[in-house]
Amino acid sequence: SSKTVAPGSSNIKVLLRVRPSNKKELDDNRWRDVVEVVDKDLVIFDPKEEEDFFFHHGKKQTFRDINKKQPKNLQFNFDRVFGPEEATSDVYQQSIQGLIGNLMNGYNCSVFAYGATGAGKTFTMLGSPDHPGVTPLLMKELYDTLQLENADVDVACSYLEIYNEHVHDLLVESSQPKPLQLREDGASVMVSDLSWHRPASAEDLMSILQAGNLRRTQHPTDANKESSRSHAVFQVLVKMKKRCEGAARSGQVRCAKLSMIDLAGSERAAATTNNKSRFTEGANINKSLLALGNCINALADGLKHVPFRNSKLTRLLKGSLGGNCQTVMIANVSPSNAVYEDTYNTLKYATRAKKI
Ligand code: ADP
Ligand code: MG
Repeated sequence: SSKTVAPGSSNIKVLLRVRPSNKKELDDNRWRDVVEVVDKDLVIFDPKEEEDFFFHHGKKQTFRDINKKQPKNLQFNFDRVFGPEEATSDVYQQSIQGLIGNLMNGYNCSVFAYGATGAGKTFTMLGSPDHPGVTPLLMKELYDTLQLENADVDVACSYLEIYNEHVHDLLVESSQPKPLQLREDGASVMVSDLSWHRPASAEDLMSILQAGNLRRTQHPTDANKESSRSHAVFQVLVKMKKRCEGAARSGQVRCAKLSMIDLAGSERAAATTNNKSRFTEGANINKSLLALGNCINALADGLKHVPFRNSKLTRLLKGSLGGNCQTVMIANVSPSNAVYEDTYNTLKYATRAKKI
């Protein structure tokens, strides 16, 4: 069952998820693991080899790599670390489920998946029919919970992507999509002309999401064919009006928004840049990710000024970050030294996002 986050505990949680090695990595003996899960909240990046041993996919190997540089052997702490053997259902039960209780209490909640292309963001957020991601798990729990509430409920969802700092609605068919504008609306920000849909069930909501996924901008790059260069923002708005709880409380309306965000690949622009157009994309992706990191950092530090205005992504999420909002950032990494720099950068970004 869901539980609310204890008062006084931080509203921002940063998790690390280390995906399992894939077949390509396992078959290639050039690759070894560079992320060692030491504890439920601790990893060592590029661990020191014990004498003549080094780790190859979790197993110690007798091998001396003469060309290898001095290992960094760096410790990184997180609120929680999920190792390769842990399923999305574990991530969900231990670190995500509690958001539903907060949502029911009227607080906005956000879940982000951060990481380089191929690190496991989409697997974590969306998953597959066999391995449902945190989004379908949240949706199922949301509807199960709403059924138990003695309230009139109204659920609406929207799905947009931010590509090159342009906002596009993923739930409308349009041959020449015109970017949508963000408008300040008091304390929050509205997306003009964004379509909102009223799903009848969790399944209906998931099919709306799947339809939107087919409209996502996908650009093959040299680094990875399935690379995604856009931020996908799926939002669910829940309005509840309590039924007959005595004169004083009847008619009370609670409203809260849940945002589930599959961020664009965090690999540096230089890694995949081969022409001018791609460089612009990379620069813009970094602008939003940089702005997001700076906002989370400012919020975690309790700073008065949070620089929401620096990117489309952070402007859009202004009302869903900070204050009473609950935020979970899931940093995804591959264990392999094939993507050594990407992993190192993700660990640094996620640590910087929240100084623990
Ligand atoms: P990203 O969205 O970050 O680019 P994906 O989620 O598409 O990465 O993951 C890349 C590949 O690795 C996919 O084939 C995915 O199924 C697989 N994968 C990622 N994370 C896991 C995991 N925890 N367990 C099993 N397979 C995973
Ligand atoms: Mg993806």
